[in-house]
Amino acid sequence: MFNDLSQYLQIDREKQRMIADAMPHLESPNLFYSKRKYMASEDVSMCEICESISLDHLPPTKYCPECHRKYPEEENFCFDCLVKLKNISDIPKVRDIKTNPEFKFEGTNSYATFEEIFTPENAEKINDFKFRLKDYKGIINDIKRTAFLEFDNLVKSNGLVLDYLDILDKVLLFSKSFVEVDYKSYGQELGVFAFDRIEVDDRQLPGLQITTLMHELSHFLLKEILAHVLCKLLDCTKNSSIDAISTFILIYSPLSRLIDEYCAHSVEGRFTVYGYQDYSSFLQIQKSLEGEMPSEEIEIAKSIGNTFSISIKEILEAYLDDDLRDDIKTQFKEDVLDMPKYDMLAMENCNKLKSKGFMQAIWLILSEGFEVASVNIEKLEEYKKNF
Ligand SMILES: [Zn+2]
Ligand SMILES: [Zn+2]
Repeated sequence: MFNDLSQYLQIDREKQRMIADAMPHLESPNLFYSKRKYMASEDVSMCEICESISLDHLPPTKYCPECHRKYPEEENFCFDCLVKLKNISDIPKVRDIKTNPEFKFEGTNSYATFEEIFTPENAEKINDFKFRLKDYKGIINDIKRTAFLEFDNLVKSNGLVLDYLDILDKVLLFSKSFVEVDYKSYGQELGVFAFDRIEVDDRQLPGLQITTLMHELSHFLLKEILAHVLCKLLDCTKNSSIDAISTFILIYSPLSRLIDEYCAHSVEGRFTVYGYQDYSSFLQIQKSLEGEMPSEEIEIAKSIGNTFSISIKEILEAYLDDDLRDDIKTQFKEDVLDMPKYDMLAMENCNKLKSKGFMQAIWLILSEGFEVASVNIEKLEEYKKNF
């Protein structure tokens, strides 16, 4: 069945180009990126008065809330904006900011229990799949808009100055406009995503924390996209039951886990650098499939994951524009000196599905997943408690 989707494949040229970029160069990757760019951008926010007086002054401790220029301790007003200066130390740290964003979907129906959801009528609605590319694009736009508003709100309500943040804090803040993000300093995993919460290990270098955040954020977004599609099909309001079903659908079968994991790797690569990802969780799932799934079907699963990653990239680009993506890559190459894993690059799939095939793929994932979920209520109740 998944094999039939191969007729809808087309080449993902952007990904091909990105992977080619990660291939060997004669010079060390670090030489391609000058650190001067960073220093220049810091200078811009430096107080002009301090600069003119002396070069060995104390670092500025105050800033203008209007123009964001930095000032030394003895100044009290911004000469240009005529406003009182604030203390830089009063700006909260991004890692301490708590968030709990909500991605809503309003429908005519509101289901309180799983019994209300798993009716023969609803199973039929999923199978009929009255869902078009236009609906899918609407969902992607809704998620993108909500996150952007949340991000804007986080900046304003916390009095943050984006220019002062380093690239890790910018990505961290952006991630927090989607999900709760906490730090951990234990365990082997670099990052974990479960039930709308990401945990990142802060013992990693900033560049690796960024790739981990992008990876875990992708897991959240794929879950969220599927939850929205379910709500659209069932014309219902999104709640913890729908989140639990969407979570189940991405976990229960090795195939959906393969799609989910491949999607996360592809998003990570699109925002950092291909070939540096940790593919272990993907390989583990692939290994567990041995004999069960022919390699052509594994390739289709990768193509589906890759196609989802293109939508997720679109959502993340609400804030992460070309300049920020360059900064992410620069930070990454400063921190990570290893060469890309070429054997892993050979595993990459550069196909994406045409819209008709992609819609069919979503139908396959949801119709089968919904059916299996309907006989696993106990598991769903367990998931639901965590949302
Ligand atoms: Zn000012
Ligand atoms: Zn993962």
